[in-house]
Amino acid sequence: MNFQKAKFITSAAELEGCPNPHFPEVCFAGRSNVGKSSLINTLANHNGLARTSNRPGKTQIINYYLFDDKLYLVDLPGFGYAKVSKEERERWGRDIRDYLLQRSTIRLVLHLVDIRHEPSDLDEQFFYWLASNRLPFIVVLAKGDKISHNKRQQSKARVERILDEMNIEVPIVISSAEKNIGIGDLKELIRE
Ligand code: GDP
Repeated sequence: MNFQKAKFITSAAELEGCPNPHFPEVCFAGRSNVGKSSLINTLANHNGLARTSNRPGKTQIINYYLFDDKLYLVDLPGFGYAKVSKEERERWGRDIRDYLLQRSTIRLVLHLVDIRHEPSDLDEQFFYWLASNRLPFIVVLAKGDKISHNKRQQSKARVERILDEMNIEVPIVISSAEKNIGIGDLKELIRE
């Protein structure tokens, strides 16, 4: 698969606005600002493809990128941003879960967690929810360049323990969109 052949297709503010489920999809989930758009750009080797931002929680839309004319990479709205109301947060969570359950073409969910922080309660609930609904997913520990090699391994072990306790066995990939860490592994998993 040619990851460099990538283009923006459309944005959808609600489920009705999503393109027909024609191509298989890989979805990027995780809280706002965790680095979803940056990772999509790095996978495409094209910095302006997905819009990145250092102001979290601004756009609550789903963005579609078509890779190699055959696979959608889908940037889901970030969840759990503290500055919005509880009701809004819950609605986003519900919308994302509805999307993931209804969309028959989903092949893989990449759930991003900032490598510097412990997974939040929301992250853990989402791991559990994905596994319970048999959605294939991997955990991506994003922004790996921000900490040392040793700290990265500690963070990975911590997430492994959390998943173990839930009896969930999924790949955990350390990544950095800035320093190209783990990008080859992610491409391999997406290709599969
Ligand atoms: P999104 O809201 O999840 O799509 O997050 P963005 O991709 O917009 O990234 C949020 C901020 O984190 C931006 O300022 C990015 O430059 C920064 N960022 C994203 N990925 C990385 C990374 O791998 N390393 C570093 N150091 N910063 C990153």
